[in-house]
Amino acid sequence: MKHSSRRGARALFSDPLLRVIPAGLALIAVVLVFTGLSRLMHKPNPDVLVPADASAAAELTPSPVPTITPTPAVYAPFGAQYGYGGEELIPETPTPAPTPTPSPTPFATATPSPAAQTGYRTLKKGSTGDDVVRMQQALIGLGYLNGAADGDFGSGTQNAVTQFQAVNGLSADGIAGEKTLTLLYSGSALAASEAPEMDYLVLVNRDRPLGKDYVPTDLVNIGDVIPSDVLAVKYRNTQANRVATEALYRMLEDAIADSVSNFQVSSAYRGYAAQQQLVDNSVANYRKNNPGWSTERCLSATYQTVAPAGTSEHMTGLAFDITVPGVSFSGTAQQKWLHEHCYEYGFVVRFTAEKESITGFLAESWHFRYVGVEAAQVMTFNNWCLEEYVEKMGL
Ligand SMILES: [Zn+2]
Repeated sequence: MKHSSRRGARALFSDPLLRVIPAGLALIAVVLVFTGLSRLMHKPNPDVLVPADASAAAELTPSPVPTITPTPAVYAPFGAQYGYGGEELIPETPTPAPTPTPSPTPFATATPSPAAQTGYRTLKKGSTGDDVVRMQQALIGLGYLNGAADGDFGSGTQNAVTQFQAVNGLSADGIAGEKTLTLLYSGSALAASEAPEMDYLVLVNRDRPLGKDYVPTDLVNIGDVIPSDVLAVKYRNTQANRVATEALYRMLEDAIADSVSNFQVSSAYRGYAAQQQLVDNSVANYRKNNPGWSTERCLSATYQTVAPAGTSEHMTGLAFDITVPGVSFSGTAQQKWLHEHCYEYGFVVRFTAEKESITGFLAESWHFRYVGVEAAQVMTFNNWCLEEYVEKMGL
């Protein structure tokens, strides 16, 4: 056997055509070795790059604030145009922006849910009928919708469909087309209770935008969780993450026990489309007041105060703009109490004056972000903003 196979190999190589192959292979090998060597010579030694304070990351004891390359642009607080800080609404004649670079980040293109070709009729907001009843019953059965199936596709049903789609990995547009309905009736769809747990430390900013289809999976109507004598909700049906809303409830109850009351939520969850709407409204406003301005210039001015769609952490459902009706929030007893105690309930004041160069946002005393009690304590005791926390903890 040995001999015959060796002879077979020799016979193979003696074929003049095939003799070229080993020669070619040898040449490739030489080239590979050479490129590998030259790459090694230019590659920085990874050991040299290990940060000196990497091991200190997990410690709770205050350590020197790490040097983080500051974000070049600092933007005016979102909400300034709503007067959270006592400021005016969008200024009539805004000062011309010094042409900042808005760098609109490209987002994953959403796949529009195809119109039903066979079987089910596409159902969306405004639809009525028996097929809406059937869909609502299925959504109720899986825990996405509360109440009775009334055959009326309103905003509650739309939210339920969006949640169902988000949990089940479908394009979350709130429109029930063929794909959505087929999965909904299949018996193999994930129930609301099987939704993946929210990442309470998700970092969202201008450098880390969320995709167009991102939808947090555990949203509730704030007004369904927190009674109106504890918290006023400025815009009806404002939603937020369930766990964060429950923490907010505990926090406000304790504030009230401390004789600090009269809280309002001005904004919480805002989806991609809602954020885009804010951008569009602002652009329209600038154009109206400055007929000569190009769209690009209006957009640049807008991005000074409004986060581009996908870059606002309101999209996570974990952020609340807490205000006091009718007055500027900064300096109120409510603001002081919340700033002193919010970490005990898992919240941080997300944008402070001290961290403007890191977060890229001017201070927003009203913007509270839920991160969970443990992270909130570490961030507060170490004086770290979320960007620093994520970097220090290697998340
Ligand atoms: Zn906010």
